[in-house]
Amino acid sequence: MIHTQTSSRAGRDGTVVRLYGTVQDITERKNAEEKMHYLAMYDALTGLPNRQFFQEQLEHAVLRAQRSGSHFGVMFIDLDRFKRINDTLGHATGDMLLREVSMRLGGCVRGGDVVARESSDPGYQAAREIQAGRVARLAGDEFTVTLDTLKSPQDAARVAQRILAEMSRPFMLNGNEVVVTASVGIAIFPQDGEQASVLLKNADAAMYQAKELGKNTYHFFAGDMNSAAVEKLKMESELRHALERNELLLHYQPKVDARSGRITGVEALMRWQHPERGLVPPGVFIPVAEETGLIVAMGEWVLEEACRQKKIWRDAGLPGIDMAINLASPSFRKTDLVERVADTLTRYGVPPTELCLEATESILMRDADVAMVTLNRLRDLGVKLSIDDFGTGYSSLSYLRRFPINQLKIDRSFVNEVTSCPDDAAIIAAIVSLARTLKLEVVAEGVETADQMRRLIEQGCRIMQGFYFSKPLTSEDLTRLLTRGTDFRAKLFRAPFAAAELAQVA
Ligand code: C2E
Ligand code: MG
Ligand code: MG
Repeated sequence: MIHTQTSSRAGRDGTVVRLYGTVQDITERKNAEEKMHYLAMYDALTGLPNRQFFQEQLEHAVLRAQRSGSHFGVMFIDLDRFKRINDTLGHATGDMLLREVSMRLGGCVRGGDVVARESSDPGYQAAREIQAGRVARLAGDEFTVTLDTLKSPQDAARVAQRILAEMSRPFMLNGNEVVVTASVGIAIFPQDGEQASVLLKNADAAMYQAKELGKNTYHFFAGDMNSAAVEKLKMESELRHALERNELLLHYQPKVDARSGRITGVEALMRWQHPERGLVPPGVFIPVAEETGLIVAMGEWVLEEACRQKKIWRDAGLPGIDMAINLASPSFRKTDLVERVADTLTRYGVPPTELCLEATESILMRDADVAMVTLNRLRDLGVKLSIDDFGTGYSSLSYLRRFPINQLKIDRSFVNEVTSCPDDAAIIAAIVSLARTLKLEVVAEGVETADQMRRLIEQGCRIMQGFYFSKPLTSEDLTRLLTRGTDFRAKLFRAPFAAAELAQVA
């Protein structure tokens, strides 16, 4: 690029007699300026407009819509569990995923060729009708889409459906097939905010609502949503007091040998007895506890309480069954975990072999080499190790072989479908044979029916946990069960096949 600057000098008669000036090559300067501008406005990873540029665009959209009296929508899109992908597959793969996601988002709101391919699809049709749907990346796994000139909120809903469908198609990243979902929040000008900043904030709040609804869905902003945020803050502060006020308790769910009906162990499951809310399940308060870091202290309480209970049963002369507790990621990562476990076991006189620690695949696979050290130290202590919700995370088979684990717990989503879905039955069969090869025990979680039990036995699985045998019980109820020496043979007899099964066992 060339920049010229000239002056002229006139002669006595007024005609130009001389021109002088400079001719400069400013390509580099211009490039640098353009580059600066680009860096300031665009996201380096995806090439999409960044937060700053998006905010400017949004402000313009507000002005335009005010002038023309039209409506437009802002979508806030956040990937579900992106952190887990980053943690398990590494940041380079995470980056690759974000680039792919940005391209698919672009495809969802771009007109023309993309639309033509599947024009019967209502999402694509909506996308065609909406001109200049624009995608931006705000941060991390947060994206926005601005939908100009909406005719109705349904247009936005259809685009959101399209986005969810596009996201849920598997991504191939470095040879890994990765499945992600997204949560989408939608705010519409002017009813959900007349200022750019308010619209964005409300789209964000709507996205959180979509997450609360179970993720992989979209949600429109509604004014009363603000109360949900307030509610969460309240729970946070109450949870801080829950420990001091002794509001936490444990329920115990039996793990049953479905061939003999004997209880082989129990899993301790945390509950929160709230003065007004009643008994709060862990699905509600554990995420809040994890966000605030309170989970570490709560996990220490669980270990203490479970061992105290073991001692009570032992002192009462009841059989020494396995006690399983769940480990959250921050607890697993605490450097004094092994010492704390050892100390607690000693204080209550609990044999290490009767304690089982459950952790999910994602907890173990993140920083797998560090996890290996902790697991080995726990094994040396003599405690059992179990992988919880197995089959839902990303396990590396080579780690699985090297980790000193004792047990795989088949996630209940597979068990749920074992009688109706051949794929799930096949997955269970594969997990069982994997466990056999690696000499691990298998436990099926969430067994609810006799039919499921029968199919699981056919697949070679014999230890089961689920409502079919027993819901999680209070310590008193479980003590009663153990005192009576009850087993679950009656459950087995009620199943049509069980008599033959039992004859075989006996
Ligand atoms: P999890 O470790 O996979 O525990 C099993 C969950 O499945 C329990 O839910 C149990 O009540 C439920 N369940 C058992 N049988 C059935 C069945 O037949 N059908 C159905 N639909 N569900 C069944 P719960 O008690 O609500 O706990 C949920 C999760 O919360 C646990 O999943 C675990 O991840 C976490 N959690 C519970 N207690 C603790 C704890 O003390 N510490 C930590 N870090 N996490 C905990
Ligand atoms: Mg568990
Ligand atoms: Mg589980």
